[in-house]
Amino acid sequence: MVQQHNFTLIGTSANRGIAFGYISFLKRAASSFEKISIKDPQLECNRFEKARLHAISQLNSLYEASIEKLGEQNAALFQIHQMMLDDPDYVNSILEIIKKEKVNAEYAVRRISHRFEKQFLQMGNDYMRARASDVVDISRRINEILMMHSGKIKKSSISFEKHDAIILATDDLVPSETVQLDQHQVTGIITSKGSTRSHTAIFARTMGLPTIVNIGDKLKKKYEGKFAIIDGNVGAVYIDPDEKTILRYREIKKTDDAQHSHLEAYRGIPTKTRSQRKINLYVNADSLADIDLIKASDAEGIGLFRSEYLYLEHCELPTEEEQFEIYKNLLSKMENKKVIIRTLDIGADKTAEYFMLKPEANPAMGIRGIRLCLNNKAIFKSQLRALYRASVYGNLSIMVPMVTSVDEVIECNNIISAIKAELQSQSLPFDDKVEFGIMIETPAAALISDELASHVDFFSIGTNDLTQFTLAADRQNMDVERYLNPYHHAVVRLIEMTIRNGHAKGIWVGICGELASDEKFMAKLIQLEIDELSVVPSSVLTLRAKIATLG
Ligand code: PEP
Ligand code: MG
Repeated sequence: MVQQHNFTLIGTSANRGIAFGYISFLKRAASSFEKISIKDPQLECNRFEKARLHAISQLNSLYEASIEKLGEQNAALFQIHQMMLDDPDYVNSILEIIKKEKVNAEYAVRRISHRFEKQFLQMGNDYMRARASDVVDISRRINEILMMHSGKIKKSSISFEKHDAIILATDDLVPSETVQLDQHQVTGIITSKGSTRSHTAIFARTMGLPTIVNIGDKLKKKYEGKFAIIDGNVGAVYIDPDEKTILRYREIKKTDDAQHSHLEAYRGIPTKTRSQRKINLYVNADSLADIDLIKASDAEGIGLFRSEYLYLEHCELPTEEEQFEIYKNLLSKMENKKVIIRTLDIGADKTAEYFMLKPEANPAMGIRGIRLCLNNKAIFKSQLRALYRASVYGNLSIMVPMVTSVDEVIECNNIISAIKAELQSQSLPFDDKVEFGIMIETPAAALISDELASHVDFFSIGTNDLTQFTLAADRQNMDVERYLNPYHHAVVRLIEMTIRNGHAKGIWVGICGELASDEKFMAKLIQLEIDELSVVPSSVLTLRAKIATLG
């Protein structure tokens, strides 16, 4: 009998869909490790080393076992975990604590895990913050093995109360725990911490489990065993829902499932308007880790790869060789689908210490994007060389951000010509047909788009920045959020002008800002004859279905 209470927990949706089930909190074999003084640090170091090697071999088996469930790309995370366990910084920090403080290995692992987790969480981008759970995952694995070796636990695995349908609740699930879940038993996941970009979230999406993360301390142990509904479409969890809510959600689930299968009919087909005009429907991406999500989304390519994240992930400037490997990997994995890589857009909200940027009172309008690249040509050239060298491995286009003048574009074209000549003289192969485009994300660029169009192969309209600059409303400042209206006539006129000017000069025009994913604005964009949209992966099928009814 369902009680007549209706508690709602709000979090962030990491995967869509509706799920019903009984809340079951995850139990871990061990979580707190006391500090114990030991006499022989060398013996303790040996214990750690034995556990570390055991963990590496466990991860090898986990990688093999996960390929079918998660796909090769996702399962590769467990190979990365193996590499992390070989990382000298991680390993030596643990050994140092054991030796210097004469303490047990479990405690040293926990301390270093906390330290690394904190460092990752403080990093300036979501992708690196999401890596925190990988450190926790490998450290937890070592500690469980240490406890197994000392006979304190029998096997290292997670457990939870069994019900017919389980909504798994926990603080934060790590990837190797997620992959252990039985999809026939677990209907959804709710976590108090976590991020939508974590591997856990990616795995949950691959496994089709509605998931809400970031619920905070409202997710309480007292909910153990309670019936609940997850609404992954809005990021809510209803605990002990009343009959009315249950009936309503049974209906919503029916419609949601039906809509989901309706959308599935649009998988694998080209995006076309009612009058059969082809639209290139691409997605935005930040990292190689997004590839699986992109493939699952059925996007026709990547319309904006924010390359700055490669720089933010590094503690020092990535070398040309390092970048080349990443771009080569990205292009090969995309198997000849279009990949538009945006050159470094550092500055404003995105920065790394090693750039040693001068503090600016108004960084959004400071030395960022193409300005920074043209001021630091060595950085720009190394990225362009890496991109051109990688171009033979797929279908690459390059675009530059934050353009405000024709001179900047001419300078870029000159640098590119010099790089091509240089590569040729070094007998390094590259694709001569790589398209070169610019982002139209300043009012200046939109207003002179007729002039700019003569120097590039395409325009990609960045409506996020275009809106903030046109309406003088800082996109980082919540207080001016209501002024940040992308439907404002001033913004729409600039979009219209850009498309018209681009087409008049025979180049294609796309949109890669948030507005491209906006179903409500689709009719207008199709009417304006937009050629390409770069959207969030979850919108691909919805937009393809919508576009088929327009134009
Ligand atoms: C934009 O400004 O619209 C854009 C896509 O770039 P970013 O959001 O990375 O600034
Ligand atoms: Mg921008």
